[in-house]
Amino acid sequence: MKISENQNLKDYNTFGMEVFARRFLQIENAGEVPALITEYLHQEPFYILGGGSNTLFTKDFDGSIVHPVFTGIEVVEQAWDAVVLRVAAGEPWDNLIQYCIRHELFGIENLTGIPGWVGSAPVQNIGAYGVEVKDTILKVEGYVISTGKSLTLSNAECRFAYRNSIFKQELKHDFIITHVWFQLSKKKHFTLSYQGLAKALEERELPLTLHSVSDCVRKIRDTKLPDPKIVGNGGSFFKNPVIPEEKYHELQTNFPDLVAYDAPDGLKKLSAGQLIEKAGWKGKRLGNAGTWKNQALVLVNYGGATPKEVLEVAETIIHDVNSLFDITLEMEINRI
Ligand SMILES: Cc1cc2nc3c(=O)[nH]c(=O)nc-3n(C[C@H](O)[C@H](O)[C@H](O)COP(=O)(O)OP(=O)(O)OC[C@H]3O[C@@H](n4cnc5c(N)ncnc54)[C@H](O)[C@@H]3O)c2cc1C
Repeated sequence: MKISENQNLKDYNTFGMEVFARRFLQIENAGEVPALITEYLHQEPFYILGGGSNTLFTKDFDGSIVHPVFTGIEVVEQAWDAVVLRVAAGEPWDNLIQYCIRHELFGIENLTGIPGWVGSAPVQNIGAYGVEVKDTILKVEGYVISTGKSLTLSNAECRFAYRNSIFKQELKHDFIITHVWFQLSKKKHFTLSYQGLAKALEERELPLTLHSVSDCVRKIRDTKLPDPKIVGNGGSFFKNPVIPEEKYHELQTNFPDLVAYDAPDGLKKLSAGQLIEKAGWKGKRLGNAGTWKNQALVLVNYGGATPKEVLEVAETIIHDVNSLFDITLEMEINRI
């Protein structure tokens, strides 16, 4: 374990917020976790930080930042049609994507280009282009912080839902994920339900392969989303709101082009980006923070933005969207 004090977190969050943590604990192998829990996590406030691409630090952190950096992709089972991989929490998500492409494993190619680490992927059940990571997760391994005991949760026990899981609910701040087990298919199959992806593949007239799908997803993402290395951001800042069908029909009277997708239980999922855009917020800024010119759902740090400035933009957007649609947007990003 590497320990540092008064650590600047600017390079540890993709929003580029300059805040300081009293203590920074870099965990170099999973075997260090039990001692970490008793020596530090039972004593003071803590926050588990992966790649910091879904975290908005709102102030200095008076406690320990736990940063599990151990990596590794291990094949634990091989069948004729599937492979089970056990992947360490600190493995960058996109490394796993590259591994799957190299080994012809199907299931997560649509999640190409999502920043962050494998240990965070189950937390909000990452998703993109018609695929959610829950459909490939077999189990999640780690430690319960309050008891210090190791625990492995099955897929059902993780209670995955849209951008949600047990790790954001009952086990929030009480579970450290050390490994995620994935079951990936050796049988060729693709999810092309997202129209933009199917169209882009057709236009490029490329053979349908893991490589071409992954490449297409990356190109689409590059046109819509700012690269956090250039413009600080945390991806989608708000969740897409899910509303009753009647409310959707009511809104259509004034906004006939409102986009909606079917959600479970007969509900409708709206596009938060479209609502924000209609509220006049696409590419707009207040001070050094604002929304991205190509995607209003992404809040950005235009350079030197403070947490206060980012939160002011977020709160003004929530207010303006609520006034126009009577819908309260919920933040997707973790605020600390
Ligand atoms: C440009 C951009 C595009 C994005 N696109 C998408 C997208 O298409 N789809 C999508 O779903 N998300 C997207 N995101 C959000 C983000 O990349 C994902 O949520 C990602 O999984 C976060 O990983 P991270 O390691 O950076 O998480 P962090 O911000 O470090 O942590 C996120 C959460 O996970 C918890 N956590 C982290 N590691 C562990 C661990 N080992 N054990 C327990 N808890 C842990 C943290 O405490 C926190 O609650 C995007 C973000 C950016 C910046």
